[in-house]
Amino acid sequence: MARYIEAQCRLCRREGMKLYLKGDRCYSGKCAVDRKGYAPGMHRQSRKKVSEYGMQLREKQKTRRIYGVLEKQFRNYFEKAERQKGITGENLLRLLERRLDNVVYRLGLGSSRVEARQLVRHGHFTVNGRRVNIPSYITRVGDVIEVREKSKESIRLKELMERAAEKTPPPWLEYEAEQARGRVIALPARDQIDVPVQEHLIVELYSR
Ligand code: SF4
Repeated sequence: MARYIEAQCRLCRREGMKLYLKGDRCYSGKCAVDRKGYAPGMHRQSRKKVSEYGMQLREKQKTRRIYGVLEKQFRNYFEKAERQKGITGENLLRLLERRLDNVVYRLGLGSSRVEARQLVRHGHFTVNGRRVNIPSYITRVGDVIEVREKSKESIRLKELMERAAEKTPPPWLEYEAEQARGRVIALPARDQIDVPVQEHLIVELYSR
């Protein structure tokens, strides 16, 4: 487990910023970005001029890592975003935001996207009354996401439900604390997606 933590913190150090992959740890003095604010590896402190391609690549990698999406899946999201009307970069972020694991995280029912994904995989949530254990499930406007009755007895879920009750979800989601139930009330607008990403660089990368 310790190795896994380190691996995730290394991703943040590689991107040179907090990606908030470890939940509470990210807000504590144990955060590796705060303790070692340089990239991992032997040549970590050397300053290299980054090419345009390098910047585009880093932006894509950072976005993948924030949402915990593998390369192939990320490419599929991009292709889907390209086929949609509107600005491709924004469409891409909107698709990533609508993933079930991200929605659970945004509702406060996971301390990080990593934890939210694990909870979804373990079948702790329903969507529109049906158990869904697929983190990449893309939610739609009107979808109701709820902690399963049985799972409401779990100590961890109880803790998270208490936290979620005190949180304000983003404007495109609403949360009823008593029922531990969230709802997608709109598609997220770009200014409601608070990820430090310059999505146009990703579009440029894939347009090469
Ligand atoms: Fe590790 Fe979280 Fe800090 Fe990233 S933000 S380095 S995952 S503790």
